[in-house]
Amino acid sequence: MKKENTQLYSTKFKRGKVSRCNICKKRKHLSWDHVPPKGGIYLSAVEQETVFSHMTVTKINRKYSISQNGVKYRTICKECNEKIGSKFDPVLNGFARGIGNILKSNLILPSIIYYKTKPNLLIRAILAHLLAAKADIDKVTTDEQIRNFIFDENASIPDEINIFYWVHPYTNTVIIRDIAMLAIRGKFGGGVGFFNIFKYFPIAYLVCNLKEYEGLNELTLYRNSKPQDIIDVPINLKNIRGPEWPECVGNENMIMGGQSIQSSVSAIPKNKKKI
Ligand SMILES: [Zn+2]
Repeated sequence: MKKENTQLYSTKFKRGKVSRCNICKKRKHLSWDHVPPKGGIYLSAVEQETVFSHMTVTKINRKYSISQNGVKYRTICKECNEKIGSKFDPVLNGFARGIGNILKSNLILPSIIYYKTKPNLLIRAILAHLLAAKADIDKVTTDEQIRNFIFDENASIPDEINIFYWVHPYTNTVIIRDIAMLAIRGKFGGGVGFFNIFKYFPIAYLVCNLKEYEGLNELTLYRNSKPQDIIDVPINLKNIRGPEWPECVGNENMIMGGQSIQSSVSAIPKNKKKI
């Protein structure tokens, strides 16, 4: 097995072997949750070129380096881990693989493609892994809301949780919990929103309390779909952001973070070729 980057961060990525589970909160033996889960998609350098050839690259800093090493957190019990792995991960991985394969292909693609998925389970997968991606259990409202409904298939997804998504044609993995950023970029008088970021090839997800953000597509439009419902969701191939967007700080953005920023990660590669 490859040596993983997370060793660098290990103190922030695990608790004791027996401790409270971040999801069910029971005191149990904890297991490692891979975020993103294994079974997603990987790119060779050549494939990365194909992916980029589909995109308008003028705004993209292609010198940004890359990583697809595993990030993992020892924060949830085996039972919760297995439920995520059996119920949710096939949908999350299928979505990543399917879109990734389209981007890797030499097909001529339109600006917007549609991909069939089960949005209800995709939403649950994203939220479950975000819940695991925190070394300390805390009582952030979002976490309590997620715990209440995550494994209850009849429970609806709370209106306060909105998930946006966009194409992330990079191999860096970014997981950021509980930050505040400007609600409207560049508008310091426009208030702040609360955000969680989960990005890996080929799709990035932003979980926040805002009803919209930067014109991104919203996954929670389908919050009332049933777990088994299959829906064609749009993927905008021309709305491409940089590898560090939206968390990059500059003239148009600022970030405030709490203690879970310690568990956040931007995985940087070791022996990978630069794009
Ligand atoms: Zn548990």
